[in-house]
Amino acid sequence: MKCLMVVLVINLVIFLYLMYAHNLFSVDQYVLSADGASHYHREDAQHLVLAREVTVVIREFEDFENRVHETVNSFKLISPYMTVIVISDNIPYPPLKLNFSQTVHFVNLQLQPMLTNPTDVIKRLIVTPYTLFVPDGTNITRSKHLLHAVKNMKTRKFIKALAIPVGYEKLNCPGMDVHLRSWSVDFTNFVGGEGMCDYVQGNHALLMLTHDLFELTSPFERPLYVSLYMQLTLRRWKTGVFSGNVFMPTTIFKDFRSEWKHKHMEELRLENTMRKFEIKKVSYDKQKEFYYGCTKDTERCFGTVINDMPDFLYRGKWTPPCCLEAIRETARHVFNMLNKCSARYWLEGGSLLGAVRHKDIIPWDYDVDIGVYKEDLDKCDQFVTLTKRNSFTDEAGFHWEKATEGEFFRVHYSTVNRNHVDIFPFYPKSGIMTKRTWLKTHRQDTEFPENYLKPLTKVEFIGMNVSAPNNIRQFLEYKFGKGVIETPRFPNSEIVVGG
Ligand code: ZN
Repeated sequence: MKCLMVVLVINLVIFLYLMYAHNLFSVDQYVLSADGASHYHREDAQHLVLAREVTVVIREFEDFENRVHETVNSFKLISPYMTVIVISDNIPYPPLKLNFSQTVHFVNLQLQPMLTNPTDVIKRLIVTPYTLFVPDGTNITRSKHLLHAVKNMKTRKFIKALAIPVGYEKLNCPGMDVHLRSWSVDFTNFVGGEGMCDYVQGNHALLMLTHDLFELTSPFERPLYVSLYMQLTLRRWKTGVFSGNVFMPTTIFKDFRSEWKHKHMEELRLENTMRKFEIKKVSYDKQKEFYYGCTKDTERCFGTVINDMPDFLYRGKWTPPCCLEAIRETARHVFNMLNKCSARYWLEGGSLLGAVRHKDIIPWDYDVDIGVYKEDLDKCDQFVTLTKRNSFTDEAGFHWEKATEGEFFRVHYSTVNRNHVDIFPFYPKSGIMTKRTWLKTHRQDTEFPENYLKPLTKVEFIGMNVSAPNNIRQFLEYKFGKGVIETPRFPNSEIVVGG
């Protein structure tokens, strides 16, 4: 009994001594200063808590020049048990200098038929409730600072991600709207307070609940933040901004050539991601616009239209903005030409409907239709040329052709890009305008009294004043049926277009 008591007392003494010693020595942590040099610093043993809460992911770095090794080390020095995962699209070349351990992992996203799907591998590696994306060249100052950020995120119920600045640069919070239906992303200058951001600009790390991260369609797409913020915005998930000195940056690129190469690669990756997410237009404050869709040198974004319903309508999308723009450009070119040679023409069918509704092409329409007096055709060189040749490309690069489907003309955006304008020659026959070819795909294409063209009037369309029939409403209701202007419908469907 005595023996037991003695042992217990000795144990207690040893325990108390260990507690004391722990406070004295083992609480020291490495802390990196901005220049990357390390020195000792006293800090609580919070690194263990941190390791249980957060997994670090390094996704954004260039193969040709990076600081991945240093970034990983920074975290390992502060919190040796923290899991750090480096994710890449392939095996980096030249190879990364990584000291792999039980907590440092590399995952190659390239699908390899004999291996497990890399996303599943990552899911297994991340066992912490939080995942933290850090940009290449990030140095952590102290574990307790990062823990503050985690705590901050826990208290803010309405955010799904937390942006933590790297360095002292102020983070911006512009508005972002993603419209999948019109294949576009709009950025606005609106700065939505740091509490609820759609998008965060500036060098930062991003903290998310691991569970939320894997709810995303594609959590590791690059450019990482553009892709993540698009996916967050589509879910109406907001991002908060943390202010605190958690991370310091180091310079990655040693000269402007590497910097330039990095920017170039970034653009290529952006283009690739936009294609995957089907975004074809990005606008900044409705002023600067960037198109990622078709051009004069590439094919039109959609294939041959069957039954007047382009494929994208079945997928809940409208005509790609690049295509609408190509059709507008082609139509303006054709109107200018028709005005020049004084041929009597008028806006037809769906195009006229669009003009009346909103002075533009109907957002899900895929061409512009124009009627012209057949007897005026020989006033215009272009049509005269088409009596001798089946097709030609004019100086501006538009491709004119005699349609193979019947007696009408088609002007394409270019030889390769088949976005087009159709021109239908009509002639009067006992007061009725008629023509040779009737297309099944243009269902509202019918004969009509010539009165509507006497006189011709003007209507605003795609930024021009173009020729149109008189009594437009009556003309449209004659062709499409009553109430057509007020009731938008898809071409070959009884479904009324919502919203
Ligand atoms: Zn297009």
